[in-house]
Formats: sequence, C-alpha cells, structure tokens
Amino acid sequence: MRTKITVANGDGIGPEIMSATLRILEAAGAQIEPEFIEIGEKVYKNGLAAGITDSSWEALRRNKIFLKAPITTPQGGGYKSLNVTARTTLGLFANVRPCQAYSPFVQTNHPLLNLVIIRENEEDLYTGIEYRQTDEVYECLKLVSRPGCEKIVRYAFEYARANNRKKVTCFSKDNIMKMTDGLFHRIFNEIATEYPEIETDHWIIDIGAALLADQPQRFEVIVTLNLYGDIISDIAAQVAGSVGMGGSANIGEQCAMFEAIHGSAPDIAGKGVANPSGLLNGAIMMLVHIGQGEVAARIHNAWLKTIEDGIHTGDIYKRDISKQRVGTTDFADAVIARIGQLPEHFRPISYASAPRPIQVASSKVKPQNKELVGVDIYLDNRTPNPKPLGDALSSIASDLKLTMITNRGTVVYPGNTPETFYTDHWRCRFLSKTGGAIAKASVINLLSRLDKDGYDIIKTENLYLFDGKAGFSVGQGE
Ligand code: NAD
Repeated sequence: MRTKITVANGDGIGPEIMSATLRILEAAGAQIEPEFIEIGEKVYKNGLAAGITDSSWEALRRNKIFLKAPITTPQGGGYKSLNVTARTTLGLFANVRPCQAYSPFVQTNHPLLNLVIIRENEEDLYTGIEYRQTDEVYECLKLVSRPGCEKIVRYAFEYARANNRKKVTCFSKDNIMKMTDGLFHRIFNEIATEYPEIETDHWIIDIGAALLADQPQRFEVIVTLNLYGDIISDIAAQVAGSVGMGGSANIGEQCAMFEAIHGSAPDIAGKGVANPSGLLNGAIMMLVHIGQGEVAARIHNAWLKTIEDGIHTGDIYKRDISKQRVGTTDFADAVIARIGQLPEHFRPISYASAPRPIQVASSKVKPQNKELVGVDIYLDNRTPNPKPLGDALSSIASDLKLTMITNRGTVVYPGNTPETFYTDHWRCRFLSKTGGAIAKASVINLLSRLDKDGYDIIKTENLYLFDGKAGFSVGQGE
C-alpha cells in the first residue's frame, strides 16, 4: 500500500532538488503518494505572514509525514520562519542530523567524521518571542523547559542505543546561562545514569564547536539546544564536505518532517547545479521511518556508488578526485542508473534491522512549593548615572526593598561603576524586607507607586523561591 506524504517544493533551489529526489524515489519503487502543498515565499508574498494556508495545515495533519524542500524566509517585515512554525506546531521536538565524510571521494580534512547531531527543535531562542523595550534595547526570550530537555536528551540516548552508537556528548553554555543551559546539562547527567553502557561527556559549546571543526572524529552523537544545534550542524556538514550533502529528520510523537539541512541557496537557484543529496538523504530517512527500509537501502547504495564513481555536483567537484561534473538532473539520472548496484569502497547499507521510530514519553514534572519573594522591575530611564535613581527608589516606602540595579545584567547600584556603559534600560530588583514570602498585592502597590511617581515601567519579572531555592539568577558582579 502506498503511504500518503505531504510534499512542498519550496523556494530557490527547492523545486529542482525536489524533482530530482522524487524521480529517484519513483525509480527505486518507493510506495508513496505525494500530496503537494504550496508554502513559503509565494504564500508570504500573498500576505500570509506565516507562509502557509489552512488547507496546507490540514494536509500536514492528515498525512503526518512531510517531505519539505528548503524555503526562503523573507527578512524583516514581520514574517515568521515557516520551518520553525512547522516544527513547533507539529510537535517535531527532535531534529536528527546525521553527518558523514565520504573520503576519498569527497574532499575533507576529516575522513573519519561520522556523527549525528540531535538538536532540540521547539524551544530556546527560537520561540521568536522578542520585544523592543526602550529606544536602545531589544529583548529575545530564551525559554527552556524540563519536559523539553527530558524529551530531547532521552531521544538522544535512545537513538544511540538503537543505532549502536557508543557515546553521547552534550553541548551547552551553562557556565554563563546557569539556569536554562544549566537545566539542559543537569537533565543530561540525570538521564545518562539510565544508560550505563553509553559513554558520555559534556563540552561548553564554544570549545565544543571548535573541536567539532578540528577533531570531529571525537564525537558520535551530540545532543544540544536549538540554536547551538543549528550552528554546529552546518559546521559538521561543511567540514564533512558540503552543506549540500546533509539530510535531516524532524521527529514528533505523531508527525515527522524530512528535509535537507541547507537552505534555499538563492545564489544558485534556477541554474540546475544544486546538489540534491541533502534532500535525498532526508527522503531516505523518511522511507526508513515509514517502514520502506528496503527501498531506502536501494537508493542509499545507488547514491554511494554514484559518489564513488566520481559523478559530482559543483559543490563537491574537485578536478583531481572527481570524474564528471554534473548538474542536478544528470546527478539524479546517475543515481537512477545505479539502482540495484552496491558501493564497492563504502560498506553497503542495509536497513533490514532498522529500529522502529523512537518514542519517548514526556514525564510529569512534580510541582514544588513556589513562594513570591520579590520582583525585578525594568525601567526605561535616560539617567546618565544610576546613583540618584537608586537613591530615589530606595526611599520609597513599601514592604519591598531595592537590593540592586543592573544595566544589561551588570550591577551598577549600589556601588560606583563609572567605567560601565549605561543604556536606557534598568533592572531594579526589589526583595521582601523580611526575607519571607510576600503577597502579589505588595508588587502591585509598588508598581502603582512607581507609576504615580512618573517612572516608565516596561516590564516586570516575579522572583520566586522553589522549595526554598532561588528561581532567579544573581546580578553580574553582585
Ligand atoms: P543556504 O544553505 O541556502 O546556502 C549557503 C551556501 O551553501 C550557499 O552558497 C549555497 O549556494 C550553498 N548550498 C546550499 N545548498 C546547496 C546545495 N544543495 N548544492 C550546492 N550548494 C548549496 O543558506 P543561506 O544562504 O544562509 O540561506 C538562504 C535562505 O534559506 C534563507 O532565506 C534562509 O532563511 C533559508 N533557509 C531555509 C532552511 C530550511 O528551509 N530548512 C534552512 C536554512 C536556511
């Protein structure tokens, strides 16, 4: 029986590489029935800021499997990235990005590179919650949840176990973002204890990315937050040979989306030179996911043979190692001509024992005792010096007391910090005078008092203790 899948041709090089990919799938005998939807640039330009129509959403929900070519997100103008919307709306929490070197046929300095990046797909700075708060300052919220971390970390360990990978590495920046990235790292450590046969390590993202670019053979499975995962998968794909080669699976509890890791490459669109391998590798992952492992293996082996035979698109073509430089269509024809053949240099692929799609359940988070102990009040204020502002706020009668003012996170009151650069954005921390819990009314009273005194309040953030432990970071230099 044919499996219905939703297909989007995308923008830029999208239609060229999708047509090549579907031709190869058809020739290999994939049992799929594509339902095409129009998403991306054209839909954005028709005035839909989300880049997708209601009927396309219906198709995606109905078919549950989505093969998507890259799309262009117009910059500025309030357009939201459809890639991000599709991932979050369809609950596609795990972005799986295998990356491998194809040396000596594709030039790379890292012939042993063979790793999988498991990128968290729904949270972090990609929630797109941004604000302009003052003339000078803009804000982007980084949201990280315990269920989100648990799901992705557990997925990474389950993936390693199912695919016979021996090591899982966590990348985070918890030396700086102690609460958000700290949670991710802590949950990694907690869940790692359930997989004693798997080796683990952790790197701060900056040195981790450097090692990935320099010694990628150190890594097998990397699990990381959304933004870091986005950046390091392009690094890994590029050092393996080309961003044009990597495929990607976005997996959720009900739906899954398969794509190339690269974008719509407008610089080469319409020229017929794009490498369709990234999307093809995504489509191979799709076939395995829907239980058509035999067809997937046939295509994968034909593709490896094509690469071995030196038939290369411009992005990987090198005069001394390639045999023939081809465009997108001829590359697809070369793969089709090799269907049924096995690679000779690379180990032939079999998906006969491919694991079932991995399911991870999210656990319930146990509620803790939550006590309100203060509030951070953000002010838009053009004062050139925080001292008069701090003195004035300190003198306000309330059951909360001003404990510090920060400017872009650095404590500037109390104290004397003439060297610090001040913007017009001040965070004023008020804590309970008694050190105990306060009522919300205390915060509301303080806010109305400040408002009456003419302060421009742009935002507040409640300060809570959870089971007695501070749920807020200290100021830089506090
Ligand atoms: P890009 O990945 O499109 O291109 C980066 C470079 O790699 C370009 O020089 C391009 O020519 C080359 N390249 C990419 N894919 C190739 C292929 N298959 N064959 C040969 N060369 C290839 O990144 P970009 O230029 O930063 O982004 C262009 C657009 O794509 C933007 O609008 C961006 O928002 C969008 N984008 C979409 C996705 C997606 O749909 N999943 C992902 C990333 C970027």
